[in-house]
Amino acid sequence: MDLYEYQGRELFDRHAVPVLGGGVATTPEEARALAAKLGGRVVVKAQVKTGGRGKAGGVKLAEHADDAFAHASDILGMDIKGHIVHKVMLTVTADIAEEYYFSFLLDRANRTFLAIASVEGGMDIEQVAERTPEKVAKVPIDASVGVDEAKAREIVEKASFPADIADAIVDIVVKLWAAFVAEDATLVEVNPMVKTPEGAALALDAKVTLDGNADFRHPGHADFVDVAAEDPLERAAKEKDLNYVKLDGEVGIIGNGAGLVMSTLDVVAYAGERHGDVKPANFLDIGGGASAEVMANGLEIILGDPSVRSVFVNVFGGITACDEVANGIVQALALLHEKGEEVTKPLVVRLDGNNAELGRQILTGANHPLIEQVDTMDGAAERAAELAAAAK
Ligand code: GDP
Ligand code: MN
Repeated sequence: MDLYEYQGRELFDRHAVPVLGGGVATTPEEARALAAKLGGRVVVKAQVKTGGRGKAGGVKLAEHADDAFAHASDILGMDIKGHIVHKVMLTVTADIAEEYYFSFLLDRANRTFLAIASVEGGMDIEQVAERTPEKVAKVPIDASVGVDEAKAREIVEKASFPADIADAIVDIVVKLWAAFVAEDATLVEVNPMVKTPEGAALALDAKVTLDGNADFRHPGHADFVDVAAEDPLERAAKEKDLNYVKLDGEVGIIGNGAGLVMSTLDVVAYAGERHGDVKPANFLDIGGGASAEVMANGLEIILGDPSVRSVFVNVFGGITACDEVANGIVQALALLHEKGEEVTKPLVVRLDGNNAELGRQILTGANHPLIEQVDTMDGAAERAAELAAAAK
């Protein structure tokens, strides 16, 4: 999960990484009141999960509260690389003598962690990295050793930080590593990390990615989830522990096993080209041992998607045999009926693998008007695409 800057800043603050005081606002009026509280002179910053806000005009200095109102009016609603700004962060301003770059990240390719540091930070760091890579120091971090003062000093020396700021940077680097580990982050990036004219070091930007696989260790991280920005179907699916991803098309997809579902997306997209260009509406893997209840939950999510016009249930029976899945589908439709959710969209079902014949008999016996069986995956994809196109 990527955090907004204001959330990253809050997290830095918790780990004693020096940041500037501030808060967030969602309206220009709120921004004016907050600016007044912060002393008038503030930086107004767009809160979007993408970089390059400064260059896009999403970071502006305000001299007084009315200025903050004006800047917030300009920045709120702005589109930065496809991200609409719904919130601005305001902080008291820092005077900047120098801008540096610093990050810790998970280096998957080399199976290690990495510190990246440069004394030429700021908004042009990409160019620095491209044109003068020697100005960007990269130091691998051994996870079992971590970053103590000596390691931090090694990084700071390798990046050639000026002597007068080295101690302050070492201190921040040690704290950033502590934050990185304690929060199970895969990225903490500070650009710019600055030297003030008084010789203090400060983190002026915060880009943090948290490892979702470690969420169970951090109940507090749930507060960082931007519920308003989440797709409502994806949220409902998450609450039911389903592996669901919303897509743009019209053919709802349910399958057992991530690989099978991915190839189902492909065959449906391919078949869809022959039927008015219909596409898969989602990815949903109900897993190997799916019960009737899981099937019902899955169908409920997919049928609740207004853009779905047909559903393709693609099952390869394994540990959970096809007869169990078939019973699951029948029970799922009954469950939805009991809940008053009438199913009106056609279901194309393809059963193969363990006990396929028995499963097919069960569905035939159930004689549900909306269930149609097709024996092959390609054939079923074709039929589901055709039905979706006909309902368009
Ligand atoms: P980004 O462009 O999305 O990375 O946004 P940043 O948070 O890095 O801000 C962009 C630039 O705005 C920084 O590189 C700074 O030059 C400038 N900036 C940000 N905060 C302050 C501040 O408190 N004082 C001053 N003078 N400049 C700031
Ligand atoms: Mn930045």
